[in-house]
Amino acid sequence: MDNKTITITKDDLATAIRALLPAYNVYAPAGEGERLAFAALDESRLGAINLTGSPVIPPKELLFPRSESLYTLDPETGAATVPEIAESTLIFGVRPCDLRGIENLDAAFLEKGYVDSNYAKRRENTTIIALACVTSPYETCFCESMGGDPLAAKGADVLLTETKAGDAFTAAFQTPKGLQVKLLWDSLAMDCGSAPAMTEGSKPAMTEGSKPAMTGQHNTLRVTKPDDLPQRLMAAFDDPHWAVLSEACLGCGTCSYVCPTCYCFDIDRESGAKEITEYRCWDCCMFSDYSRMAGGHNPRPTKKERLRNRYLHKLAYFDERYGMTLCVGCGRCIAKCPASLDITEVIEWGGGAL
Ligand code: SF4
Ligand code: SF4
Repeated sequence: MDNKTITITKDDLATAIRALLPAYNVYAPAGEGERLAFAALDESRLGAINLTGSPVIPPKELLFPRSESLYTLDPETGAATVPEIAESTLIFGVRPCDLRGIENLDAAFLEKGYVDSNYAKRRENTTIIALACVTSPYETCFCESMGGDPLAAKGADVLLTETKAGDAFTAAFQTPKGLQVKLLWDSLAMDCGSAPAMTEGSKPAMTEGSKPAMTGQHNTLRVTKPDDLPQRLMAAFDDPHWAVLSEACLGCGTCSYVCPTCYCFDIDRESGAKEITEYRCWDCCMFSDYSRMAGGHNPRPTKKERLRNRYLHKLAYFDERYGMTLCVGCGRCIAKCPASLDITEVIEWGGGAL
């Protein structure tokens, strides 16, 4: 793999992204505060790019949309139309924890003999430019507690890291898709004297010696996760503490909607006179009717069972099936829960003594 790096000054960032627009549908964090979101970019939106925070809704929505039509049927002829999946999408500014979240989705949607075709097509068509967290975007981040590294994103096609001086980014090209981006930036540098400054360094940006330190807010190791956490929590399945933990929960589902690793969905149908649409949309295991069965029986009748299921799926069941934890420590569910529930308290409790 070509491991050359490029340095892009912040003044040149818009120019660098503009160079990607003809080749990709580009999405990047844009807007301010609570409205910060991964937005489709065009020339008019380049000035709205904001890399100082992390959108509340993670980039998973670009691979696994909140709601999508699976197909439409003409009720008269029975002819089905399947929507096209966009080709050549590029997501700019994905944080390392959210990239690990995408790796969780890859396992759920692409492994164990089951391939979700819509997810697979989007994943194949998507290039990811990650942004190292020199400063944590949330006070509640705890990615290092969950085995993550705020400064590395191995699975990203390109990794951007802010330089120590804070006036530029170093771009490391990590995959063949990343090298396609480099080609576009190389040609830009040839065409325009003021375009991204080129550093023909032969070392990747993230080698040990040159690894930049986190310079801003950094509290990503907030809790110690015991290696046997899954076993501890499973052994505590009947512990009365689950009821205590769930007392304040409102069942609003915010925790799932903001989570980069939650992937439950529902499939439903909308029938109109001219068209019948089968669609799927995000669902949430914290909703009271999520596990209700056709006959009316609900194996998770109260919020105690629902909250226990959420945390066991995150911290034990997924690990058992895929060998990885389904929480990447992004901290969003802690920051956004209206009842102040905190998954790190569950990790700290760890099911009590075995
Ligand atoms: S965000 Fe908080 S209150 Fe809402 S369902 Fe999740 S844990 Fe319960
Ligand atoms: S469970 Fe919470 S902290 Fe963990 S990945 Fe999901 S939103 Fe982030």
